[in-house]
Amino acid sequence: MKIRMKNHEAPVSEKQWRAIIDCDSSYDGLFIYAVLTTGIFCKPSCRSRVPNRGNVIVFGHAEEARTAGFRPCKRCKPTDRLGPIEDWVARITQYIDDHYKDPLTLEALSYHCHGSPYHLQRTFKRWKGMTPGEYIQRTRIRKAKELLAGSDKPVAEIGTAVGMPSAPYFITLFKRKTGYTPADFRKLLREKTR
Ligand SMILES: [Zn+2]
Repeated sequence: MKIRMKNHEAPVSEKQWRAIIDCDSSYDGLFIYAVLTTGIFCKPSCRSRVPNRGNVIVFGHAEEARTAGFRPCKRCKPTDRLGPIEDWVARITQYIDDHYKDPLTLEALSYHCHGSPYHLQRTFKRWKGMTPGEYIQRTRIRKAKELLAGSDKPVAEIGTAVGMPSAPYFITLFKRKTGYTPADFRKLLREKTR
């Protein structure tokens, strides 16, 4: 079998190389790597012997590696559906969407969505580009904006309704994220729509 490098095949980056050495499953689904000398491709989490870095190239998807002439590793089965991790991240996201009103901690999330806090945090960040904490804040601010626009509820009450019962904290975070205090944000909206 002859394998040739094409321009869409990238050499391995520092981050990806780390993931391969550490068998870091939080990268599974984000890339796969192929080894030029063996003609085999693997998931980052594969426990097989670490290849020589110079022989490694990465692909976004298993199909690309197969098209380029590589065979899937029998040990880590990189062509299997990535279901588990994708589903897990979707479940965590859904849990936050349903429970942003409650006091949500990383521990509570990992208890309800099963998995260690450390692994949950890392995996979520890889897939969503932000930590669960950042996603929770973003969700709360988005809901607060909706309530400010669509109701006359006092600001403190809105903070409580979106899971931030401390009014000073709610106002500070809202201002940091939007540039306005909740009261100013509401006033501005009203002026615009008048
Ligand atoms: Zn493998």
